[in-house]
Amino acid sequence: MIFAIEPALLSGQFTKQYERTARPRLPSMPLTRALGPMAVVALHDGDGTFFQPREEAFPQVSDELWARADERDPGAVTADGQWLLRFRCFAVRHGDRVTLVDAGIGPADSLAASWAPVPGRLPQELAAAGIDPADVDTVVLSHLHTDHIGWAVIGTPYFPNATYLVQRADVAAFARPALEDRLFAPLKATGQLRLVEGDVPISAGVTAIATPGHTPGHQSVLVEYGEQQLLITGDLLVHAVQLIAPDIPYLHEMDPETARNSRTKLLKPDIILATPHLTEPFVRA
Ligand SMILES: [Zn+2]
Repeated sequence: MIFAIEPALLSGQFTKQYERTARPRLPSMPLTRALGPMAVVALHDGDGTFFQPREEAFPQVSDELWARADERDPGAVTADGQWLLRFRCFAVRHGDRVTLVDAGIGPADSLAASWAPVPGRLPQELAAAGIDPADVDTVVLSHLHTDHIGWAVIGTPYFPNATYLVQRADVAAFARPALEDRLFAPLKATGQLRLVEGDVPISAGVTAIATPGHTPGHQSVLVEYGEQQLLITGDLLVHAVQLIAPDIPYLHEMDPETARNSRTKLLKPDIILATPHLTEPFVRA
């Protein structure tokens, strides 16, 4: 079931809508969306079913709304009605810089191993996109749930030249020994952790935007070129049901009301969304 998705993703199905990176000798071709001179590359770390029934994860969804959501994202439900989700990161190439948004589920012994389909394959995806970990100069962690920090630190920071941007409110909310030992301490030791508050410009056209609610310090990354806007959402939305009905809460949002406000504010008609968990990496709001 899990691997059956890959041929569809990599076949011609998306070529009309999405450009690909031009690196023909490599086996995998990560899907890419261009905005002027910038490119946003989807990096697929893994996929698997959710650990609880989707009706529990989204208790307010009616049968009719589930039917509409399944029509919008048919790849997100298994034949027996489980939620099948992707775990994805995004790289933004801008000039000679590379910004990575989120760090996936991680290797076999990652903090996400208790529930996520580890090991992830971000290293191979980065190689297929022609990105060396040393090329990444900024890592934006949308939030500190374990499926978004998996490759951030593997003993030492996996991206040795990157500044890691984390919202101060999330560091406070996730002040736990496991995260201190395996994420914060190694990043502090190398001087790579940058705690931020609110919106943070990364470069011309690339901005980390505070989108609290899912977690207190949740952030997304807005990429803008002329009139075009692409939002790398993080978990601002986690399922197509929140795309068609942005007011629908998700059980694991720490502050559902704030999450709803963040979501409804940013899901504007013409914006392209780059999401970690929906079947397609790029969707219209
Ligand atoms: Zn997530």
